[in-house]
Amino acid sequence: MSDDLVFLYERAAKIYPRAIDGRFQKLRKAAVFWLLGMYYLFPWLNWDGRQMVLFDLPARKFYVFSWVVWPQDFIFLAAFLIACALSLFFFTALAGRLWCGYACPQTVWTEVFLWIEHHTEGDRNARMRLDKVPMSLRKFRIKASKQLLWIGLALWTGFTFVGFFTPIRQLALDFPLQWDLTRWFWVLFYGGATYANAAYLREQVCKYMCPYARFQSAMLDRDSLIISYDESRGEPRGARRRDVPDRASRLQEGSTPSTAELGDCIECKACVLVCPTGIDIRKGLQYECIGCAACIDACDEVMDKVGYPRGLVRYSTENAMQGKASRLLRPRVIIYGMILFALCASVLLGVLLRKPVIMDVIRDRGALYRFANDGRVENAYQVKLIHQREEPGVYELRVLTPGFELVAPARIEVTAGQVRNLAVTLRQPEEAARGAKDVVLEVIDVADPTLRVQERTRFFGPG
Ligand code: SF4
Ligand code: SF4
Repeated sequence: MSDDLVFLYERAAKIYPRAIDGRFQKLRKAAVFWLLGMYYLFPWLNWDGRQMVLFDLPARKFYVFSWVVWPQDFIFLAAFLIACALSLFFFTALAGRLWCGYACPQTVWTEVFLWIEHHTEGDRNARMRLDKVPMSLRKFRIKASKQLLWIGLALWTGFTFVGFFTPIRQLALDFPLQWDLTRWFWVLFYGGATYANAAYLREQVCKYMCPYARFQSAMLDRDSLIISYDESRGEPRGARRRDVPDRASRLQEGSTPSTAELGDCIECKACVLVCPTGIDIRKGLQYECIGCAACIDACDEVMDKVGYPRGLVRYSTENAMQGKASRLLRPRVIIYGMILFALCASVLLGVLLRKPVIMDVIRDRGALYRFANDGRVENAYQVKLIHQREEPGVYELRVLTPGFELVAPARIEVTAGQVRNLAVTLRQPEEAARGAKDVVLEVIDVADPTLRVQERTRFFGPG
């Protein structure tokens, strides 16, 4: 009976990647230190007497260095996020999964969790042996130290995450008695997610959960830089004596085809053993490949040992691998690049030209016009002033169009970040107030008269 059972679920085999050093792994380490350094350090740094990076959701204000992002600035935030998505398209078309290999949070934290594992349990073989032996005092001690370090890092990550949304120093001072349920929930939730993703799910996230892995092939073409195995140089692969020179030298020396038969791949499988997703790059580009370049470093190390030139596995393009010319500038790179440039330039321009006060003038919808006691024609308006500064301010409102009188407070005082609504009136003598005309209002910062904002509205009179 049991012979007829077919299980549709197969438990994923645990991957034990071998540690490797090399030029690309040094680059990745630098990226990990830089990115995690920013993550863990930024909330603790101050700027202008407040937390340097703080996303204050209740106040609907984001502090990023000297810039305060007000709700009215969220258009820049949206543009920034679109620019991030576009840059992913652009860099993928240029050089494949750079993002996954060097900057994706999943890769970065998994890398740190792997370092901890490596330093507590040892390299690949030691870890495999440890997992096979029954529980003992030694095994318990090693596993417990790894778990303690993992859990500590995960909780610190959760704590730091919450520290981006609430002042982190206060969060630390309030711990643990004054933490409310929301704080506990987010620290534990984010810490738990870090632990699960980086300690256990690891490559499963990249293989099965990340949508980018699935659609990246649509952004690649034959000229994109990807991690490739040079089949023409490596095949047919096979083990050999240490003193056999590489294929190019053998052919140069006029070897017969039989001695030049083997390619440069010595079938050591080092490239497979270091792969964090457990694939064999020699089978060609696979969606599971996260572009970590560990296989390049591993193969280069092997090539150095056997005295063959490096680069059997390397960054290359499909065209280059087939001996064809590669083009850096292709239509998709140019189009992505141009859109990205235009978007970044407009965001930058918008931020540079942004004024700390916004004025909105809305006509009173009740009546088109009315007559004042002295016979003049009046129009009523609602003026909305948005003061986007961290300190209080004083403004003056005036009408720039000649022939009008403005009835409004002489000084408009606002507190930090205040949105102030004012009822104002424009007046004109009846004989001049014929038909509809444009009127320009101007608001001036009393402390800094160079800061002026103008707004056009309509004035209606009889006839
Ligand atoms: S590391 Fe290089 S030589 Fe070894 S199996 Fe991989 S491709 Fe072949
Ligand atoms: S094949 Fe494996 S080791 Fe090589 S870049 Fe891809 S994920 Fe990294």
